[in-house]
Amino acid sequence: MRTPLIAGNWKMYKTPAETKEFFSRFLPLVEKSTHADIAICPPFVDIAAAVEAAAGSRVGIGAQNCYWQNKEGAFTGEVTPAMLKAAGCAYVIIGHSERRQYFGETDETVLRRTRAALEAGLTPIVCVGELLEEREAGRTNEVLQRQFEGGIAGLSAEEFARIVIAYEPVWAIGTGKVATPETAEEAHKFLRSLAAAKFGKAAADALRILYGGSVKPDNIRGLMAQPDLDGALVGGASLKPEDFAAIINF
Ligand code: PEP
Repeated sequence: MRTPLIAGNWKMYKTPAETKEFFSRFLPLVEKSTHADIAICPPFVDIAAAVEAAAGSRVGIGAQNCYWQNKEGAFTGEVTPAMLKAAGCAYVIIGHSERRQYFGETDETVLRRTRAALEAGLTPIVCVGELLEEREAGRTNEVLQRQFEGGIAGLSAEEFARIVIAYEPVWAIGTGKVATPETAEEAHKFLRSLAAAKFGKAAADALRILYGGSVKPDNIRGLMAQPDLDGALVGGASLKPEDFAAIINF
């Protein structure tokens, strides 16, 4: 039995004061929500405010990226997973399509960052997903397989057991064009089959695969009804306490 995880990706939105304000409205709305794990991944500068605000609640805090080693060093602008852990993070998003698209993230760096995150005791939420032109060319499975083999399959069985995968079709992110539950399920099933082939059926059955891409309060229920959908990674709709709580309390 997989416990769903519903995680918010705030991207590059909100200040520490706005973070505090968000939590004061959000926490009462999810106080009784024990059916799913809940996470919020704010920008780095808001992590301290989020950790403080979420203390004593069931809401875990995560980052949106991390460096690929835990040893401190002269790498201006980077943050180690160990630093995130020390700051109170439990999760980190890795390989989000915006990192792949705008900041040169590759399957190889995804694997390195994931390993470092695991070493620090964080739960990586590893993102995969195809572009619109790849879907239209009938290449979705080929892309997912390449991302899985390059970014995930190199983990040990013990490491793999501690990751979460987020299937985020790029054409659905921030566009309002959510994948149909059936389209999402097909991709999730395919990813689970890749996991089974590499790490065995028990590991694949235990793997949580989140869907991400224009999840809103009015479409979460249909998505969550799919057997291989174990939660959601929510961008835009996680910025409003009422919307994100409505998604969690689907
Ligand atoms: C995301 O940022 O991961 C995402 C899925 O965004 P949105 O929900 O806004 O499409």
